[in-house]
Amino acid sequence: MTRDKRTLAVHAGTRRSQYSEMSEAIFMTQGFVYESAEAAEARFEQAGEDEFIYARYGNPTVRMFEERIAALEGAEDGFATASGMAAVHGALAAMTQAGDHVVAARALFGSCLYVLEEVLACFGVQVTLVDGLDLDAWAQAITPNTKLVFFESISNPTLEVIDIAAVAKLAHAAGALVVVDNVFSTPVYSNAIPLGADVVIYSATKHIDGQGRGLGGVILGSKEIIRSIVEPFMKHTGGAMSPFNAWMMVKSLETLDLRVRAQVATATELAGLLEQRGDLARVIYPGLPSHPQFALTQAQMGAGGTVLAIDVGSKVRAFSMINALEIMLISNNLGDSKSIITHPATTTHQRLPQDQKDLLGIMPGLLRLSIGLESAKDLNSDLQAALDVAFLSD
Ligand SMILES: *Cc1c(COP(=O)(O)O)cnc(C)c1O
Repeated sequence: MTRDKRTLAVHAGTRRSQYSEMSEAIFMTQGFVYESAEAAEARFEQAGEDEFIYARYGNPTVRMFEERIAALEGAEDGFATASGMAAVHGALAAMTQAGDHVVAARALFGSCLYVLEEVLACFGVQVTLVDGLDLDAWAQAITPNTKLVFFESISNPTLEVIDIAAVAKLAHAAGALVVVDNVFSTPVYSNAIPLGADVVIYSATKHIDGQGRGLGGVILGSKEIIRSIVEPFMKHTGGAMSPFNAWMMVKSLETLDLRVRAQVATATELAGLLEQRGDLARVIYPGLPSHPQFALTQAQMGAGGTVLAIDVGSKVRAFSMINALEIMLISNNLGDSKSIITHPATTTHQRLPQDQKDLLGIMPGLLRLSIGLESAKDLNSDLQAALDVAFLSD
């Protein structure tokens, strides 16, 4: 029987020990013991479904997280990693070799850009960056030698929404695989696999934990890709998730749907109210009808996510607004239950050369707002008051 995501988020992947515990157990163990030399030999030859060898390869608590998130995403299988970047690097490095070509959208999380331009390029992978919104640019860049395409389904921090189905069609026609970093879409609103993604990556550090505690990531895809391509690479290179973090993430998945839906509802309301002010240079939120990819967002995700961006016009105003906030915290994470404000130009994207900032729209007045679980009314009062201060201080 097929189950809804909310049911899967609570039950999928559960492994009960002989004690029949209600809450999932933390198997805080690196290794596993064998009943005999023959049993050890047999397990190394072919480990069964619930047979583990070493926590770098797999662990029962980690397996619970992998199966639960894979079920939620509609993926056949998954490999959990120490961080979101371990997942991005692991997937891309496992899937490519010297001489291969990769096409990626230019608007990427800084570390993803580093993995493509500094790491993969040094190992002989040719990388072409394109404007992710420009389907002609994708079509021109993808060649018969293209091994995979990579993009963030909603880009950071300017929240451009990439058409997964359209890019996947172009990639698949050339025999290339589609790898999607789906952090901003969240597993709650993701349809990446039905739309054509072969591999979906999450930083579990963001909405999945959602409470600012730990790092984690996951690579999701077909059994073939995960077990034959990703697992051998990951298990020998050491980017495994710790059992403790896997326990935290598996428990967090139980409330992910409720948290993210509440955050999205507040983000949608605040985006509308911010737009109504009329004095902001830009209010960017994929769930606003004024967003250039609003129709695509509705078709692809059905909601605009938990992050919005505003342009207050200058760095001075941006700083005075940030400093006037009483509830929203100044930090650089996102997806947290606590609302967070970030000034990308001077923090997350500080090191980007000015021409790259201009190209990506990272203006001096741009602020990224990750909306949390506080009351929409309180957040709105906080934002409006801080904006009033910022505009008055001109
Ligand atoms: C945060 C983030 C990552 C990296 O995740 P970590 O868990 O911090 O390593 C990758 N991609 C996107 C889009 C992110 O937001």
